[in-house]
Amino acid sequence: MIKTRFAPSPTGVLHLGGARTALFCWLFSRKMNGQFVLRIEDTDLERSTPESVQAIIDGMSWLGLDCDEGPYFQTERFDRYLEVIEQLIEQGDAYYCQCSRERLDSLREQQMADKHKPRYDGRCRDLGLKPSDAESLVVRFRNPQQGDVTFCDLVKGEISFSNSELDDLIIKRSDGSPTYNLSVVVDDMDMEITHVLRGDDHVNNTPRQINILQALGAEIPEFAHLPMILGDDGKRLSKRHGAVGVMQYHDAGYLPQALLNYLVRLGWSHGDQEIFSQQEMIDYFEIGDINRSASSFNTEKLNWINQQYLMETPLAQIVDLVHQRLDRLDIEFDSDLNIDLLIDLYRQRVSTVNQLVDSMLYCFQDFESYDEKAVTKVLKPAALEPLQHLLAGLEPLNRWDAASIHAVIEDVTARLEVGMGKVGQPLRVAVTGGSFSPPIDQTVELVGKDRSLQRIKRAIDYISASNV
Ligand code: GLU
Repeated sequence: MIKTRFAPSPTGVLHLGGARTALFCWLFSRKMNGQFVLRIEDTDLERSTPESVQAIIDGMSWLGLDCDEGPYFQTERFDRYLEVIEQLIEQGDAYYCQCSRERLDSLREQQMADKHKPRYDGRCRDLGLKPSDAESLVVRFRNPQQGDVTFCDLVKGEISFSNSELDDLIIKRSDGSPTYNLSVVVDDMDMEITHVLRGDDHVNNTPRQINILQALGAEIPEFAHLPMILGDDGKRLSKRHGAVGVMQYHDAGYLPQALLNYLVRLGWSHGDQEIFSQQEMIDYFEIGDINRSASSFNTEKLNWINQQYLMETPLAQIVDLVHQRLDRLDIEFDSDLNIDLLIDLYRQRVSTVNQLVDSMLYCFQDFESYDEKAVTKVLKPAALEPLQHLLAGLEPLNRWDAASIHAVIEDVTARLEVGMGKVGQPLRVAVTGGSFSPPIDQTVELVGKDRSLQRIKRAIDYISASNV
């Protein structure tokens, strides 16, 4: 059975790159009827925080990337790592090293000056040092000095490193804590991980990890290193490019399925299909179809995909999301409002739930000011007469529905002998504050009689006051 793992370090939010790695691991395990493990690599005690652990768990659960095992925490497995370090020392595959920081620094400087790659020179390799109580020594892995480490990366193809390029890496620090490469190896071995999918910033660690796995007699997993995600300026995706945390997309009104759909296409394709149901993603996913080159993040495309999902998602679910958003904005929901109609009218024109709510806010509360462009273009003296006629025509209406409102608008255009725009647009700006809304008769119906009349009066006053 195959087994993948997602192994984030909890030093920040779950960012898009991490989420995509998690998604690919999850998809592959689901496709192969395998298992998916979540492992929190929290050995860096200074940089790991409980908030980040929570952010990772929240992000995964919002995206629906459920794991079959875990979350495991590396800090809970220290004893096991130390046990393996002991084993490596006993079998001669690791040794104590007493080189001081000063010595290592000057070695490094010298190597750089000689234009050599900085690496440990193996001074303590054969000294047979024993730890004494007086000093706490680091432990290094005895990396083979001859031969190559070659592996067939499932994305990048064959990759080979010469052992002469790899030095004896530290596996236990002087404070007694195990290092990243050691703990990853022990976990991948103990958790019987068959496929390691991770960012390609780890490619250089892989030959070291393979050597340690070999020394432990462990099975070597398959590796797939995923090319990174770049911002639209070609630089590595970072905070500079805006939201990078998965939950920021939640807060901004994106749908989890849409974000997953966007992420799956970042560096993976299946023909030219853009929209994938979850089952299609699972059925079609092949590691071999992952691009070898980096992919670029593109907000416009994400917005487009989110919009497709907004249109397809059952209305009841969108209503729920709209309610949640209104709650977050502390806006009370007017239960007389025909929310289904409102959502249907607007969802084809917006990209996110937040935009959807923003565009219908005028139905829930009075707006503070008019959209500036709409004022200059529409709320001019020429709008005064149509608005006055509309007010007079709408006030006596008993049935407040789109058809009756439409009849009043038509009547005013006929009476003033002007086009629809000269009456409809001032009415729209008066009632919504901006120049964009669904058909005006439906809009006015939704806003309700009292509010609409009061807003028409407000616009009349506004125009009169601005033009004295
Ligand atoms: N904890 C590592 C990271 O967050 C990942 C290690 C791995 O996947 O092997 O970059």
